[in-house]
Amino acid sequence: MMDMPVTPQTKTVLVAGGAGFVGSNLCDALVAQGHRVICVDSLMTSSRQNVEHLLAGPSFRFVEQDICRPLTVDEPVHQIYNLACPASPPAYQADPRHTLMTSVIGTSNLLDLARRHGATFLQASTSEIYGDPEEHPQREDYWGHVNCTGPRACYDEGKRAAETLCFDSLRTGDADARVVRIFNTYGPRMQPDDGRIVSNLIVQALKGAPLTIYGTGEQTRSFCYVADLVEGLMRLMNLQENPGLPVNLGNPGEFTIAELAQLVLEMIPTRSPIEHRALPVDDPKRRCPDITRARTLLDWHPRMSLRDGLVPTIAWFEQKTGHSRAAASPAGRMPEGVLARQSLV
Ligand code: NAD
Ligand code: UDP
Repeated sequence: MMDMPVTPQTKTVLVAGGAGFVGSNLCDALVAQGHRVICVDSLMTSSRQNVEHLLAGPSFRFVEQDICRPLTVDEPVHQIYNLACPASPPAYQADPRHTLMTSVIGTSNLLDLARRHGATFLQASTSEIYGDPEEHPQREDYWGHVNCTGPRACYDEGKRAAETLCFDSLRTGDADARVVRIFNTYGPRMQPDDGRIVSNLIVQALKGAPLTIYGTGEQTRSFCYVADLVEGLMRLMNLQENPGLPVNLGNPGEFTIAELAQLVLEMIPTRSPIEHRALPVDDPKRRCPDITRARTLLDWHPRMSLRDGLVPTIAWFEQKTGHSRAAASPAGRMPEGVLARQSLV
């Protein structure tokens, strides 16, 4: 396969974690803009299928590698996005030491690569660095409330250390490192067995299985559609001047988990009962981004409402699981217009 020539307009962009949920949507957007993309992924929480459609093209290259191993790239690289890290609690807790090392050693390896190539670097950090927050909504100047010995610490503390590495690299002039703090994001390319709330509820409803709510369901999250997030990531990466500050990216619309379950049941009418299970240790009670900084610096805000974003997301899970809404519905058919309705919810 002939490689596409890189003209001054096109950049070579390395996306670590590029086969994952967010990463593969980012790769699509970059390729659509005409850039050459090198996707580095160990496939530990994703599937090659997410980028299969890009593999045949001349502007996409896939490298199967764990970022905990040092990386070399035999061509100039202009930008590096680091999205490589399991993001779902069951996935990141399965091998906690590797999760921590992915954020620390992996980010360090990618920052070294950025330094050698003079590439701009963007780190996918997380709202989890705020822990179980005592301030609401969360602004970037809040230092957080993380239990460093709990089961979520491998992820939260790893991401906090990765932010430290980025800002140290910036201060020492080693890399033009930028940091986004991503709040709960959903959309097509999530794995059906990923274990996060949006995928769990939709897949359970489609299968007619009980919808699992951990605890009372009164805890809140703020859900951002993946295309909105990808737009924000690219805006920060391409900002002329590095703001030298972390930037929250998320949708400030805040929902209880019980409200999300009701919305899913409305959009996928099914006989599924609600089943309450034990609340995981250290589960944050409230989470909502203050996006003033993203609005000001990036002129960014999310455009997709939760109800509208769930439409393509449900369609994705129907395709992935082979279970349709129509079959899930007790009457065997969907009420008119349930998915077509536009709303601000
Ligand atoms: P994901 O699990 O779908 O994708 C992560 C990708 O990274 C997968 O393809 C996985 O195989 C790869 N990966 C993991 N460890 C690796 C390693 N050591 N070496 C190479 N590849 C590795 O998760 P996602 O939701 O797409 O999240 C992407 C990034 O965004 C993560 O860094 C996550 O922490 C961050 N983030 C996501 C959310 C969200 O709601 N989706 C929220 C906050 C932060
Ligand atoms: N949750 C739930 N049922 C599930 C999966 C998750 O009630 O089947 C809850 C979980 O306890 C948390 C919220 O939904 O309060 C969001 O969980 P998720 O794993 O999606 O993300 P995170 O906790 O990292 O925000």
